[in-house]
Amino acid sequence: MTLKTLDEAETRALGRRLGRLLKGLDVVLLYGDLGSGKTTFTQGLAKGAGFSGRVVSPTFGLARLYRAKARLIYHLDLYRVAADDTGDIGIEEFVSDPKAFCVVEWPEAGRAYYPADRVEIRFKHLKDGRRISLSGRGKRSKDLIRRMKK
Ligand code: ADP
Ligand code: MG
Repeated sequence: MTLKTLDEAETRALGRRLGRLLKGLDVVLLYGDLGSGKTTFTQGLAKGAGFSGRVVSPTFGLARLYRAKARLIYHLDLYRVAADDTGDIGIEEFVSDPKAFCVVEWPEAGRAYYPADRVEIRFKHLKDGRRISLSGRGKRSKDLIRRMKK
């Protein structure tokens, strides 16, 4: 599914639609340049999952944990992390916690750790907004995207 959002609020709203569907072990990868809307989308996602606190980019902390009702959300940012250095971050634990789902900005370096079944979202700058492409890899993730459309 590909669509265009005209402002921050629309990107957040889209994030909310996915966030309300996510469950433990789901993994959402957010690809796109700096300022393309990955953190903004994650703010909506966390809200949709029931987290009402502040969501900021964890660039310098690499991972943040939010508690949303019965679910946990791991918010990772692997900006400027080299693939060789991902061993210390604990990505394996984040993606295998049955109570948590993971959302990853700049996911490239963590490639070795993600499950085959995952949601991939690509953000692109447009002159007047952002183009956002969502795709599900695997049965569960494809189903998530399908349910988002409703
Ligand atoms: P990233 O995490 O990808 O680096 P952010 O979500 O932190 O990006 O920042 C996106 C910036 O772009 C924000 O300052 C936001 O206000 C602005 N913006 C403008 N239009 C949009 C849009 N359609 N969707 C998301 N952000 C937008
Ligand atoms: Mg960000």
